[in-house]
Amino acid sequence: MLKLYNTLTKNLKEFVPLNPPNVGMYICGPTVYDYFHIGNARTFIMADIIRRYLEFKGFNVKYVMNLTDIDDKIIKKSNEEKIPASEVAHKYSEAFIEDLKRLKIKPATLYPRATEHINEMLKMIKALVENGAAYNIDGNVFYNVSSFNGYGKLSGKNIEDLESGARVEVMEEKKNSLDFALWKKAKEGEPFWKSEWGNGRPGWHIECSAMSCKHLGETFDIHAGGNDLIFPHHENEIAQSEASNKKPFAKYWMHFGFLNINKEKMSKSLGNFFTAREVLAKYSAEAIRLFFAQAHYRGPVDFSDEHLDAAEKGLEKLKNLKSTIESAISKNNTGGINPDFDFQSFEERYVQAMDEDFNTPQAIAVIFDFVREANRTIADKENLNVTFYFAVKDFLIKTAENILGIISFNEMDIKQGTILESKVEQILTEYDTTLDVNKPKNVNEIINRLIAIRLSAKKEKKYQLADEIRKRLEDIGIILKDTKEGTDFIIRN
Ligand code: AMP
Ligand code: ZN
Repeated sequence: MLKLYNTLTKNLKEFVPLNPPNVGMYICGPTVYDYFHIGNARTFIMADIIRRYLEFKGFNVKYVMNLTDIDDKIIKKSNEEKIPASEVAHKYSEAFIEDLKRLKIKPATLYPRATEHINEMLKMIKALVENGAAYNIDGNVFYNVSSFNGYGKLSGKNIEDLESGARVEVMEEKKNSLDFALWKKAKEGEPFWKSEWGNGRPGWHIECSAMSCKHLGETFDIHAGGNDLIFPHHENEIAQSEASNKKPFAKYWMHFGFLNINKEKMSKSLGNFFTAREVLAKYSAEAIRLFFAQAHYRGPVDFSDEHLDAAEKGLEKLKNLKSTIESAISKNNTGGINPDFDFQSFEERYVQAMDEDFNTPQAIAVIFDFVREANRTIADKENLNVTFYFAVKDFLIKTAENILGIISFNEMDIKQGTILESKVEQILTEYDTTLDVNKPKNVNEIINRLIAIRLSAKKEKKYQLADEIRKRLEDIGIILKDTKEGTDFIIRN
C-alpha cells in the first residue's frame, strides 16, 4: 500500500487517486528568465522519481509542468538584454527542456505556457469578480483574501496573524494587505493582453490555477512544488481555484525540501547557486540523481562537491556490476549453476521502502545490499547460468534505472556508447603511434590509454600536448579529473 505525506491534511495516508488507474499530477515549473540552478533540479528530480514510481505501481500518470513565461523577472531581463520578453522566455524554455533531458528527467506529458492560457485565466478572474471574491481597482484586479473561509488551510497560517504581522506598506490600492493581484495593469513598455479591465498581464498565482484546471480538471490528484511555494503561492492557488470552481482543488499536496549550501537555501537572489549546467559539466546525471535520492524528498539537503564525489564513487559499484553482467550475458552460458538467490525479498524490501512516502534513501540501501549479495554470489560460484545474470539485470533495470534513473542499461545508451567509442578511438589513433598488439577493447580502455599518453606528455613537460588531449576529450563529453591518486574521468550525458 502506497502512503504519502499530504501537506494539506498534515498526515501520512494511503494514496487513493480520484479516478484510478489515472493520476493527474501538476508541478510548478520554472520562470524561464535564466538557466535553472541545482536547487531547482532537486525538486524536479525528486518529482520525477515520484512520478516514475507511480507508473511502476501501475498508475497512468498525466504529468503537467508549467512554464512561467511572463513575469517581472523576464521583463527585467528583456530590458537589460534589449530583446523582447517572448524571446527571453523562448531561449530559456528551450534550455530548460534540454537540461531536464540531461538530468535524465522523463519529459512531462505537457509543458503548458502561461502566455498560451491568458483566456483561461481571464475566465477564472471574471468568475471571481462576479462572485465577489475579487475586485477591480483602476485596471488592477485583486483577490479578496477575507472572502475565502479556507484561507490558510494549506500553510496553517491564520489571516488575523498574517494581517497583524504585515507591515504597513504602500500597497497600491489594495483593500487589504494580504490581497494579491490576479490581473496587473499594463505599465509603459511592458507586454500586455487585452481584458475587460483594460490592458494588462496575469499575476503569477492565477497562472497555475488556470493551467492545472484546464489540463487536469477542477479537482485533481497531486499538486507538487518546493517548500517555498506553500505560502503564498499554493495557498493562493487553492483560494482562487476553489472560489471560482466551487469544488475542492488538489487532493494531495507534496512539497520538496530545500537544497541548501552552507545551511542556507540555494537561490538566485542570494547568489549562492550553481546552475544545473555547471554541475553537469563536472558530474554525471546519475551521480546527481543518486546524491539527491540518498536523502528523503521532504527534508533539507546540503550541497557540496564532497557529497557528489562520494555519489560518483558509489555509482562505481553499480557500474562494475553492470559490466560484469554484460560480459557474462555476452558469453551466454546456458549450462552452469543456478544459484539460490532471493530476488523476491529484495524487491519486496525495495517496494516497502518506496511505498512509505517514497523513502528513496532506504530503497537505495536495498539496491546496494543487492549489489553486494550479487557480487558475493558471482565470486563464490564461477560457473553461473546466464539466466542468473539476466535476473540481476532485470532487478537493476526495474529499481535503479526505471525508477531512480541512477544507471542505464537501455539500448539508446548502448548506441550512444558505440558513437562515443568511435569518436574516442579516432582521437587515440591521432595520439598513439605505438598502437599495435594490445589494442584497447572498449571505451574505458581507450580513455585510459589516452590518460596514460597525457601523463607521459606531462612528465616530458609537453604541457601543450597534455592540454590538447584533455580538450579533445572534453569536446566529446569526456571530462578528466586529476586527483592525488591519478586521473579519473566522467562521461557527460
Ligand atoms: P522558481 O524558478 O524559483 O520558481 O523555482 C522552481 C521550482 O524549484 C519551485 O518548485 C521551487 O520551489 C523549487 N526550488 C527553488 N529553490 C530551491 C531549492 N534551493 N531547493 C529545492 N527546490 C527549490
Ligand atoms: Zn505554480
